[in-house]
Amino acid sequence: MANRLLFKDRCEQALSHARRNERYAALLFLDLDRFKRINDTFGHAIGDLLLKEVARRLNHCLRKTDTASFLGNVLLDSCISRLGGDEFCILLPDLSNAKDVAKIARRIITAVSQPLKVEDFELYVTTSIGISLFPLDGDDVDTLLKNADTAMYHAKEQGRDNFQFFQESMHASALERLALERDMRKALERDEFQLYFQPQLHSQTGQVVGGEALIRWEHPERGLLYPDEFIPVAEDSGLILAINEWVLRAACAQSKAWFDAGFGQIRIAVNLSGRHTTILQIAETVTQALRDSCLDSHLLELEITESTIMQKEEETTTALHMLKDMGLRIAIDDFGTGYSSLSYLKTFPIDTLKIDRSFIKDLSSGNKNAAIIKSIITMAHSLGLNVVAEGVENREQLAFLRRLGCTEIQGFIFSRAVPADIFVDLMKRDHTW
Ligand code: C2E
Ligand code: MG
Ligand code: MG
Repeated sequence: MANRLLFKDRCEQALSHARRNERYAALLFLDLDRFKRINDTFGHAIGDLLLKEVARRLNHCLRKTDTASFLGNVLLDSCISRLGGDEFCILLPDLSNAKDVAKIARRIITAVSQPLKVEDFELYVTTSIGISLFPLDGDDVDTLLKNADTAMYHAKEQGRDNFQFFQESMHASALERLALERDMRKALERDEFQLYFQPQLHSQTGQVVGGEALIRWEHPERGLLYPDEFIPVAEDSGLILAINEWVLRAACAQSKAWFDAGFGQIRIAVNLSGRHTTILQIAETVTQALRDSCLDSHLLELEITESTIMQKEEETTTALHMLKDMGLRIAIDDFGTGYSSLSYLKTFPIDTLKIDRSFIKDLSSGNKNAAIIKSIITMAHSLGLNVVAEGVENREQLAFLRRLGCTEIQGFIFSRAVPADIFVDLMKRDHTW
């Protein structure tokens, strides 16, 4: 593969050639989907092997073989470079029409997504591709690269595992993201974030035993924003660290206020993103927030995802034990959707599994989701873990989960996430199923 410099050089040549001969050239910007998760789960050695295999497949897709002959010279002169991490860039020079690029992109996507056996593991990885065309999307290499990158970002937003051609309107959405980022910085200063709370009920008694703190943003112009609209941007920009801390402090303060007001043992769960941070750093922030709020640590549960704890194993073990020793509870959020081996369940001190909403959503007894839920609950029981079902909306789901002995229920069937004062009313309400 060409290094960055050689690659740029080849691009310059291709552009002058295309300019002289009134031809097209294309840049494909590839980024593997969720590669970090593979690295974190299986280790860097396996991650490296996977990258090598992807590189081999890319080369193969661009090689002039019988099946590839439809593009003749283009493939002969194409050039691949690894830009770093899990990003690759491909130059397709001297095209007579843009449609050919789509054919190649499609072929790459198929090739990358074929399962790969590394040691004892069968790995799957997909890729998102952004494409920019000379001369339509830029007149120089830097602009074309930037626009292909923007298009790649768009492909990720479209659900990954696809390709997108650059469009002017993508600039608009990139600008929108920047504006959101800027507003978020101000929001922290101006205290525009709020915590809503969604009750978690004991499945047999129907009693409210806890609440999940869920962030909302009262945006001065756009109104109430849900986390899906801004957490991903916060995670990309690093602002998530400040948000993690804000959420922790706000939840501790609220929980302490409820405790002091005599609401007893209401456990509050807080979502913490593992992007840009490690569980060890999170543990330090938690320690500080607990100290400052004087909250009894037993009342706090941390919701983290599998990808957060699948970082350095030793460090994670230390940090989780530190949190456990302090008396906190640890929950694995969105359980069942991560890319992980289950062995961490026996090494890490975990209290709760939260069954992801996607399994509950299409639940009718006898279907595959029912079987998966059943296995998770059985496993949780035999490991002595608490298990919470998320997104329970109707009585059929509730009945099913109760029958299996799922410990706790969270969902619209009882209540959405609500502001703190309404949560208080829900705590008081005597609920029988
Ligand atoms: P999550 O932690 O899995 O939270 C559960 C989400 O499911 C919440 O959406 C909740 O309102 C929703 N939900 C609960 N019951 C039902 C139901 O019966 N039906 C349906 N359709 N939905 C239900 P929300 O509040 O929009 O949060 C979405 C995600 O945003 C959360 O997923 C979490 O990953 C993230 N998030 C929320 N608050 C925070 C936060 O303070 N910090 C961080 N880092 N992430 C947060
Ligand atoms: Mg959660
Ligand atoms: Mg969840």
